Amino acid sequence: MSDNQKIYVVGHKNPDTDSICSAICYAELKNKITGEAHEAKRAGNVNEETQYVLDYFGVKAPVFLENAENEKVILVDHNEMTQTVDGVKNAEIMEVIDHHKIGDISTDVPIYFRNQPVGCTATIIYQMYQENNQEVTKEIAGMLCSAIISDTLMFRSPTCTPVDKEIALKLAEIAGINVEEYAVAMFKAGSNLADKTPEEIFYQDFKKFNVGDVNFGVGQISSMATDELFEIADRLKPYIAKACEEQGLDMIFFMLTDILEESTNLIYAGAKAGEFVEKAYGVPCEEGDYYKLAGVVSRKKQLIPAFMAALQ
Ligand code: MN
Ligand code: MN
Repeated sequence: MSDNQKIYVVGHKNPDTDSICSAICYAELKNKITGEAHEAKRAGNVNEETQYVLDYFGVKAPVFLENAENEKVILVDHNEMTQTVDGVKNAEIMEVIDHHKIGDISTDVPIYFRNQPVGCTATIIYQMYQENNQEVTKEIAGMLCSAIISDTLMFRSPTCTPVDKEIALKLAEIAGINVEEYAVAMFKAGSNLADKTPEEIFYQDFKKFNVGDVNFGVGQISSMATDELFEIADRLKPYIAKACEEQGLDMIFFMLTDILEESTNLIYAGAKAGEFVEKAYGVPCEEGDYYKLAGVVSRKKQLIPAFMAALQ
């Protein structure tokens, strides 16, 4: 590794709007405040919600980083090995900027590791622009605001803090958008079914977790239209059973989250998955094939902690 090597800023696999937009905005900030060259990369396909955001603000998507071996990287929006780009084990991790539970990323030397319990990495990136007295352009504001709306389900998720909302509203003003109107269009673009295979819908936002000897995966799609969610569930059910087997996972869950109703219908695959949900939530199965989790919208703050507790 040479000293003038470019530093890649990259979010998690199956990137969401936060992982793409925070990477772009943080690379730009680092370019302004350091003498080193930084470039945003992506660890997977840009989903349609994120593409809507990039098109709206006229920003090009980052280039795909297939393998990070021997590269210098800054990880944003994750700190778990199961979620990071291939090859990170043999990469030099320069920094981590995140808002999730502390995972298993480790380094040989001390690094800048910033993790705040806020609703979105973009909230932290905005704070860093402020701390460094850097101007937030319309495009940067638009991307950061979109990431906050996306991660917090327009401030409805329990992960959302007053700081996220306050910053998002400030950013919306700079970006020249009406948050409600913009959010409806953005979420609609993201849950658009046209021309999408069950596989594409499934991997749009899918994360793997490991607790003891149990390996499971949790995907999620959020929508403001209830009918659409039932339609997606019907299409995904056969697929998740196949995915569970192919990936060698014990259980797979898929959250169909209704943003307006603030609830999730959970479909599942794996021999013990149903029993497991009943243990975690104490709710009965609806019509034999899904669980209705009232008030649950956040994978990170509601579903995963309940699952962790049930596994212990
Ligand atoms: Mn994310
Ligand atoms: Mn995030």
